[in-house]
Amino acid sequence: MTDFANDGEAKRWNYRPGKPVALNPLFTWPPRPGAVLRWYASFWFEISTTTFALLMAVLAVATWMPSVTDTGHLALGWVLAVWLGLLLPQIIVTGGLHHWLYNRQGQGRDLKYDKRDLALKSRQFTFGNQVHDNMFWTLASGITIGTVYTVLWYWAAGNGWVAIARFEAQPVWFILYFALIPVWGSFHFYWVHRLMHWPPLYKLAHALHHRNVNVGPWSGISMHPVEHVIYFSSWGLFFILPTHPLHLMFHAYLYTLHPVFSHSGFDALVRGDKKQMELGDFFHQLHHRYFECNYGTVEMPWDRWFGTFHDGSASGTEDTKARQRRMYQGRTL
Ligand SMILES: [Zn+2]
Ligand SMILES: [Zn+2]
Repeated sequence: MTDFANDGEAKRWNYRPGKPVALNPLFTWPPRPGAVLRWYASFWFEISTTTFALLMAVLAVATWMPSVTDTGHLALGWVLAVWLGLLLPQIIVTGGLHHWLYNRQGQGRDLKYDKRDLALKSRQFTFGNQVHDNMFWTLASGITIGTVYTVLWYWAAGNGWVAIARFEAQPVWFILYFALIPVWGSFHFYWVHRLMHWPPLYKLAHALHHRNVNVGPWSGISMHPVEHVIYFSSWGLFFILPTHPLHLMFHAYLYTLHPVFSHSGFDALVRGDKKQMELGDFFHQLHHRYFECNYGTVEMPWDRWFGTFHDGSASGTEDTKARQRRMYQGRTL
């Protein structure tokens, strides 16, 4: 076996993480409780998109989001507040990260995965420009459809059609629910993403997200409206389980803002010589480069169990290409 550091895959990237991609140790046998604790601590007790989404949810619910006592009737005022509550953070966070990494080139090419720059002129993108294309689909489709799901929940909650979770009634469940939401998100994402790779749906919708072989922050939720409806169907959980607006908004920010970081194209944010925050998700970057691998996330074992896991090594690329040849045999995409 060739060792990972010199396996030929490294030269296909400007930067490739030094180790094979790790999956959540929760699903390894024999159990590794210490590793599992460290895994979860790294995103619940450090600066991460999880803690960032939680902070945003607290801020939003405490300030600009409507109270469920006022949302029984659809009214422009509170619907607008929900829309702006998703739109403005998206513009500020995605625009800020894009500006730092790509306009100001704040860290140059340090820890940038792909050797190529974003396609500022390419006819395959809407408006002939990758960044403008991605901004358009993110804001016009993504934020609108995310707003519709969020408004539907507030409206249902205002009418008593869905149950509201209360901290006083079940404090332990109230807190555990936050931990469950990212797990639910990862579970749901694999299956809907797998569905999006079904050729008719891929052609109709998912191909738009895959225009981005080389990704940037605005690629995160740059998707076709049909894909947004399916991707955001994870909101469905809150129509079944008793939920508090804090849970709903934590999920909303996780779903709209986490992909901004995971598609940033850089492994981490660096200032001076110091790593400030983990950014990219090499596991998903591999999906954008090689397509038929890593349909899920590192949180869930599906890709390993179903033989589609690419750990970033040259043999992962060979396996993916062989699978692709088998899949496309006799089929024209
Ligand atoms: Zn895909
Ligand atoms: Zn993606």
